[in-house]
Amino acid sequence: MSDLPSFTVAVPLPDEAATAALGRRLAALLRPGDLVALRGDLGAGKTALSRALIRGVTHEDAEVPSPTFTLVQTYDTAIGPVWHFDLYRLSGPDEVYELGWDEARAEAVMLVEWPDRLGPLLPPDRLEVTLSHDGPDARRASLTGHGTLAARLAGTDWTLA
Ligand code: ADP
Ligand code: MG
Repeated sequence: MSDLPSFTVAVPLPDEAATAALGRRLAALLRPGDLVALRGDLGAGKTALSRALIRGVTHEDAEVPSPTFTLVQTYDTAIGPVWHFDLYRLSGPDEVYELGWDEARAEAVMLVEWPDRLGPLLPPDRLEVTLSHDGPDARRASLTGHGTLAARLAGTDWTLA
């Protein structure tokens, strides 16, 4: 299907602090133009992970609301603009242009919950993060880097001490 290189790593998240640590670790890897596709059921922790990532590059007590109704929230951060999307309520891929999709693609780190809503706009070169339940407070993350993200993922230690 695709000739892009890819790299996958599984990260156990025994508690919410581990998810927060993963968010901060991911932030160190990302740069403008990157897209992180966040997958998993409702309550899996997509927003919790995004919040920790954004706090890691802004302030530890920064207000990071879920973009459930606004569809997108934007942040000025130490790694450049970060745009946090929740596309569950998107009516169709074309609606993302009204949200500023082209500007985001050009200059921002994009964190996207419900990325399948993008249809063909989902870029092949991206980081996939799939969260799943492993108990009430435990989760599992599967990280897959495609394209340039593959090497960056492979070059990072994912042990959350
Ligand atoms: P999503 O955005 O995937 O729908 P949220 O991040 O909004 O999920 O919700 C995750 C919920 O699970 C929060 O209430 C959070 O406190 C809770 N939670 C418990 N354990 C964890 C964990 N290890 N990682 C992330 N969230 C956790
Ligand atoms: Mg969410």
